[in-house]
Amino acid sequence: MKAGFRQSISRGIRFRCPKCGDGRVFSSFFKMRDECAVCGLSFYPESGYYAGAMYLDYGLSAAIFLAIFVPTLFMPDLTHLSYMTKNLLWIAFGTVVCLGMARPSYSLWLAVDYWIAPWNSEPVKKNDDTLELPLVSLVIRTDSDEPHQGTRNRWEN
Ligand SMILES: [Zn+2]
Repeated sequence: MKAGFRQSISRGIRFRCPKCGDGRVFSSFFKMRDECAVCGLSFYPESGYYAGAMYLDYGLSAAIFLAIFVPTLFMPDLTHLSYMTKNLLWIAFGTVVCLGMARPSYSLWLAVDYWIAPWNSEPVKKNDDTLELPLVSLVIRTDSDEPHQGTRNRWEN
């Protein structure tokens, strides 16, 4: 049965598989599994799949950063740090927030996308296969062109 939106979000926040809710999405802090160890759902349904998750990470991080940074502009300065030191500390803080939001962003991206358009559990495509695909299609096209030799000659003339 398809999970509801709230259940999907809950699975995403807990870094669990969007399909079964049991398998873990990450094998280490920043390393995603290729597929669910429980139900076999591929976590890489297509190449470049997580580009949107990077935007999500940026958006969430920027929102969190601004929600903390902007109020400090209206507070009295109690630190007495130099302007440069403060800037460097804010940059470091922003970097930490962005890295910290990477996991939730990737997991939520997977959860929401699976909720919108679920895909079937299939063997994960390795990078080698995607490299071979254009070559395969080229071969097929060349073969199918053979009977239409006259057509191709007409184009060349
Ligand atoms: Zn699963």
